[in-house]
Formats: sequence, structure tokens, C-alpha cells
Amino acid sequence: MIQYHIYPGGKRRILTFSYDDGNPNDERLIALFRQYGVKGTFHLNSSWLSADAETLCARYAGQEVACHTVHHGWPARMPQQSVVSETLADRAALEKIFGYPVQGMSYPSGSYDEGAIAAMRACGILYSRTTKNTGGFLLPEDFMAWHPSCHHRDALPLCEKFLSTLDSEWTHPLFYIWGHSHEFRTEQDWQHIEKVIACLAGNEKIWYATNMEIYNYMVAGQQLRISADERIFENPTAIDLWVEKDKKEIIHIPAGERVTV
Ligand SMILES: [Zn+2]
Repeated sequence: MIQYHIYPGGKRRILTFSYDDGNPNDERLIALFRQYGVKGTFHLNSSWLSADAETLCARYAGQEVACHTVHHGWPARMPQQSVVSETLADRAALEKIFGYPVQGMSYPSGSYDEGAIAAMRACGILYSRTTKNTGGFLLPEDFMAWHPSCHHRDALPLCEKFLSTLDSEWTHPLFYIWGHSHEFRTEQDWQHIEKVIACLAGNEKIWYATNMEIYNYMVAGQQLRISADERIFENPTAIDLWVEKDKKEIIHIPAGERVTV
């Protein structure tokens, strides 16, 4: 029996952060992310960007930049044509600055419905985060309705819960924390988020990833070819993959390679 629940480096847990609206405070938050070796995705509204391209590229280097629409309207209260223009123009503006395909999204004000999902998908959006906190560590069933674990203000109790599960094999793996860096107004606020980051950082059992790295890994896993006797593994993707065989053996299948066990 093959199970997909192993992540890069043979790890069993994932941590990701997600911050909306593109406030200049992102710079201080990202400095903390770099200091502690964690990663996040920053959902930007292209009409709200207040720095030049060079400054923005330096600010977000090593993190993922994703869409949050041009003007932060409510997608569930727009005609689909407006969702399309708000999404495509945001993508185009961000891609011009950052130089890579920007295909992640978080719904402005958490607003979405079937029409918004269809319109965004048609614009090339691959995943979109909601604001429905699960209080748990589930992987998304639908990447276009990717529910986070919690807002950062509620993260500390969940940190303890997450860390207490690191050695249990069969449990949900993903701790997803979201917020806005403009919510950090006082030094106490900064101390709180640093405490959250510090208690989760530097753990060899956790994969620290952006939202898109998680999406890419999950999608690549579905491309894995496995022989009927589950001994030959062929990875046609550009991403190294890991699976678990018979609940005991972790198999690494490097990008573009075939592995026989
Ligand atoms: Zn927002």
C-alpha cells in the first residue's frame, strides 16, 4: 500500500503562513520569517502597492507573491466579468513586477461563491484561501476553497496542539496561519507573532513552505506512476517526491527519475 502523506525531505508535517493586503509591515514580518527559516505567501492588491518594483522584489524575495485582486472588492458581490478583470489585471501587474507566473489568490474579505471560483479559475488561478478557520490541520479538499487553520491571534494554543502531534503518524499534517501585517500595531503584537514563529521554527519534522509550494507538491504527487506490484516508481515531474510504502518504508523519487525498490 502506497500513501502520499510524506512531504519533502521525508517530513510528515507542513507549516505555511499567508498575509493579505501588502502592507509595508510585511517587510518586518518577512525579516522574522528569514531569521527563523519559515515561509509564507503574500497576497497583494496591485492598486495598493506603494513602493517601486526594486523595493518590492527585495521585500518579498524568497516568499511567494499571490493575487488579492486589484481593488479588494467582494468577489461574491460582483458580476463575473468584474471578477475576471480584477483577477487578470492583478496577475498582470504583479507578474510585471516579480517576473514569475502569479497564480495564487486569497479572497478579499473572504468573499467567494461558485461564480467567483469559476471566473478566477478561468483566469488561471490555481488555489485561493478563504477566511474560514478550521481550528485543525487539514489539507484542502478543494484548492479553490483552501480553509486555513487559524488567524495568527489564535495561533499559540494551536501551536502546542500541532507540536504535540509531530510523532503521531496518522493525523492531518498542515498548520496554516493567516492574517494581515497591518494588524501588528504595537511591540506587543510583534512579540506575539515572533513567539508563534519561534515555537514552530527550526524543527526537522516540519516542512516550511509557501502556499504554492504545497500546491505544486500535491499536484506533482498525483503524476507519480507506480507499477502494479508497487516496486517501480516513475516521477515525470520537475519536483522530488516522497511516498510511504506499507506503513514502514519512505521512498524518495527524484524529479524525472525511476526508482525500483
Ligand atoms: Zn484583504
